[in-house]
Amino acid sequence: NNVLLQVKDLRTHFFTEGGVVRAVDGVSFDIQPGKTLGVLGESGCGKSVTGFSILQLINPPGRVIDGEILYHREKNGREEIVDLAKLNPRGEEIRRIRGNEIAMIFQEPMTSLDPLFTIGDQLAEAVLVHQKVSKRAALDRATELLDKVRLPQARSLLKQYPHQLSGGMRQRVMIAMALTGQPKLLIADEPTTALDVTTEAQILELMQNLQDEFGMAMMFVTHDLGVIAEMATDVVVMYLGRVVEKTDIQSLFKEPKHPYTRALLESIPKVGHKVGGHLQTIEGMVPSPFNIPPGCPFHPRCASFMPGVCDAALPADVPLDDEHSVRCFLYSEKTEGDQYGSPA
Ligand code: SF4
Ligand code: MG
Repeated sequence: NNVLLQVKDLRTHFFTEGGVVRAVDGVSFDIQPGKTLGVLGESGCGKSVTGFSILQLINPPGRVIDGEILYHREKNGREEIVDLAKLNPRGEEIRRIRGNEIAMIFQEPMTSLDPLFTIGDQLAEAVLVHQKVSKRAALDRATELLDKVRLPQARSLLKQYPHQLSGGMRQRVMIAMALTGQPKLLIADEPTTALDVTTEAQILELMQNLQDEFGMAMMFVTHDLGVIAEMATDVVVMYLGRVVEKTDIQSLFKEPKHPYTRALLESIPKVGHKVGGHLQTIEGMVPSPFNIPPGCPFHPRCASFMPGVCDAALPADVPLDDEHSVRCFLYSEKTEGDQYGSPA
């Protein structure tokens, strides 16, 4: 079985004064080499926390409390499996993997770029983290990378500061930076959400081209089904810290199973019919993560809610076929042993 990253029963909780937030609560999925896993859901469903957990970037009061994050890599011609969840978040090993083998880009590049340093300094520094070369060689490499992300006039760009660039250009710089270590996996967290549609389309296309060129896998976190349609080969749909549906991209659009997935699909104008379709939103708000509904957490908003069933127990994740699984009582009566209780 060809797999790059296996996330198994990941739990990341935040121990706040107001109570425990189960931001990620038993999430499992695989990412295959060269493929793109789309992670879809509304804000607050645990998508970003999942990404941060993989790289051990969760800060107190948050903590990865359980689960495995098995990263498969080749070392000296042999396969080696590293459980990232077991690594010390501040240790050498995760730091070597971060940026080098697994890189991450975010929605707002301004927060990850230092306003006080030039693009050249920051890119060169990123290169120097991965390679022991001279500053001049690092700058040459930086120029090459800017070229790869189609930023023209790389030489003069190197001397500029982040605020002198447009949002789209900054995101390209961040992508260049992410590529310095030639990662096997790029985690992209809403990388185009802050951009206008034209720039977004260009960045998405760029990312696809770079993916082909570098042969890397991607985990693409987004709330946008259009972006999912464009980028993903496989999808997990998240709701309140759980994966509610897992499928390949064709079945997501052709035969969505979970009522939440269906509601998400109904909330966008149909693909290819972009004529003034009104954006609907799903009925109801995402409940507070401090107060996750008992049973199936989607039940207060679900059109297919079955009283006494859906609010009584958490449905188990049930495979429908090799590529498709769903967590909903419409497809199986199976419940999961450990259930949501009220937060401790
Ligand atoms: Fe709706 Fe019940 Fe399925 Fe939850 S388990 S999604 S409430 S039908
Ligand atoms: Mg997020």
